[in-house]
Amino acid sequence: MKVLMVAPPGAGKGTQGAVIAAHFDIPHIATGDLLREHVAGRTELGRAVRHHLDRGELVPDEIVLDMVHEAFLAAKERGGGYVLDGMPRNITQARALYRIAQTLGMTADVALHLKADDDELIRRLLARAALEHRADDTEPVIRRRLALYHEVTHPIVAWYAERGILVSVDAMRPVERVARQILTALEAMRPLLDHVPQHARRPIDLTGLGAAFGTND
Ligand code: ADP
Repeated sequence: MKVLMVAPPGAGKGTQGAVIAAHFDIPHIATGDLLREHVAGRTELGRAVRHHLDRGELVPDEIVLDMVHEAFLAAKERGGGYVLDGMPRNITQARALYRIAQTLGMTADVALHLKADDDELIRRLLARAALEHRADDTEPVIRRRLALYHEVTHPIVAWYAERGILVSVDAMRPVERVARQILTALEAMRPLLDHVPQHARRPIDLTGLGAAFGTND
């Protein structure tokens, strides 16, 4: 299973990425985590990206693309599956990632879009700020990350819809419900992935299916 996630900050990319990785036994490649590890370890790369992270700005494309290229090589050794969390963040990254994946025979089966309202996202991120101490979980930086998401990241969703690999899920519900819906959708797609060529697929919108996944109980 090869999955990439497109979601605003606070939608639960990290949590759901870990669920998907455990379920399919595939590596969870989280660009934000990789970058924060570099910052914490004070590597050269960490020193170069720290001010971008602290301000909620995107790190230069080449840096994240190199990082993900390396992670893809390792994922290929493990069988070729992956769940990519935090990338692509803009259309340049989406195109470059597609080229990298294509040379490795690892283009995504699914682009998973997690949808949530800004008010809910801000509430979650401020709640997280009280527990963890991520340098970018202050209100002005949260607002900047959300604005950037709407401006440069969200437009990629249409690109994946055109490619027929988009699965949209309502991420406003509790974590377990969202996880259940994601895993059900991905499991249902498995047979399709082997038999239907990418160009013949259609985007799937599950955002109206809340009740079927227990919103009302
Ligand atoms: P969130 O989605 O909550 O902002 P992430 O952990 O995915 O959290 O990202 C944190 C920060 O890491 C981003 O604000 C950005 O500075 C940097 N970052 C992560 N992924 C990328 C990427 N693909 N391109 C550029 N910067 C990135």
